[in-house]
Amino acid sequence: MKPHRLRMTHNLLLAYGMYKKMEVYRPHPAQDKEMAQFHAPDYVEFLQRLTPENSKEYLHQLQKFNLGPYTDCPVFDGLYEFCQLYTGGSIDGAMKLNHGMVDIAINWAGGLHHAKKSEASGFCYVNDIVLAILELLKYHARVLYIDIDIHHGDGVEEAFYTTDRVMTVSFHKFGDFFPGSGDLKDDGSGKGKKYSINFPLNDGIDDKSYMAVFKPVIQKVMDVYRPGAVVLQCGADSLTGDRLGCFNLTLKGHGECVKFVKSFGLPLLVLGGGGYNIRNVSRCWTYETSVLLDHPISNNIPYNDFFQYYGPDFKLHLTASDMHNLNPKEDLEKTKVSILESLRSIEHAPSVQMQQVPPDMYLLDDAAALEDARDPDIRETQRDVDKRIDKETEFYEDDNDNDKHEPEPPSRPSRHTKSVASTAASTSNVASDNEGKSS
Ligand SMILES: [Zn+2]
Repeated sequence: MKPHRLRMTHNLLLAYGMYKKMEVYRPHPAQDKEMAQFHAPDYVEFLQRLTPENSKEYLHQLQKFNLGPYTDCPVFDGLYEFCQLYTGGSIDGAMKLNHGMVDIAINWAGGLHHAKKSEASGFCYVNDIVLAILELLKYHARVLYIDIDIHHGDGVEEAFYTTDRVMTVSFHKFGDFFPGSGDLKDDGSGKGKKYSINFPLNDGIDDKSYMAVFKPVIQKVMDVYRPGAVVLQCGADSLTGDRLGCFNLTLKGHGECVKFVKSFGLPLLVLGGGGYNIRNVSRCWTYETSVLLDHPISNNIPYNDFFQYYGPDFKLHLTASDMHNLNPKEDLEKTKVSILESLRSIEHAPSVQMQQVPPDMYLLDDAAALEDARDPDIRETQRDVDKRIDKETEFYEDDNDNDKHEPEPPSRPSRHTKSVASTAASTSNVASDNEGKSS
């Protein structure tokens, strides 16, 4: 998981001029107490303490928490700070949605769906998605989670497996493929029975086949479950040409999922995820940002800092390969029908007694501890205004431009205005420090 792909994405977004249509925020670094809303405190504390230098002293804990050599979760310099920022970005997005400050929030640095309560897994250390959903649940009776990464969204499913307040829907490759879970028959338990949905797929699925199952399933989920907010994980390893993935989706197919989910007009948190062909990851998330903004962009990649990566054609869109689609129409239809049947048996959206709204996540912590953790170079305003980054001058002049803040709170956009928050910007700054040190 190369943090460099986030910098490339952000750079391409800027080159296309999309920052003019968005509000861009610097995420707050999530604190240990916030992470411990889901994760075991000893696991969080260990992540905080761990460095490449001291890791040899903690062989037992490394094994216990699935970190370090011999795992797919390497220890690298700045690991905890990296977790703090991508997690803070997703929590911030959820809070802005909760307060009606934005209609759509994007954190391309987030979406690390494999992390478990006490265990890192598949390049995922802290599960920002679970934490963001917990935040959304303070204001919404039901939250829908949709996962289009090629891998099963196991960490999120596991966290909400026994509740009907979160429905998880994952489309993924299944069968001799990481993480191995996500069978059709795994559909939740107890009160959560039928509220976990898994659509197992095979190699080579193309746009047309994917749409033929994605749209009817999501339509039915929306009709039956009636969520108050939606979290969409847009892992880009389901694209054609991915180094780990084996699907054959183009940007248009992948982006059509985003467009379809957006069409329901619900508060929407859009997150990144996997993606191991970095030039295609940045293409994908840039295109999907344009879809979310209803702002068509040219197929010609504009000049940017990483322009040479996009050769030889310098085009945004991808062409599907001629790989064989191992998903026969009849099989897809059978799985689809089975899921629709199961959804039919959920007659009504479950209601919950909403009690007093708990405080926002990072207000749980005392202000002093939060202040300690803040970078003294980053000036902050009141939390509502928080880490808004100046749009006019950002990134084009000297390095200090990003740190400007606006003294007045921004006028709150109405629920009907187009307004998208992205936290990719500042995370990519941090990510650059880690470049080349993680896998
Ligand atoms: Zn993945």
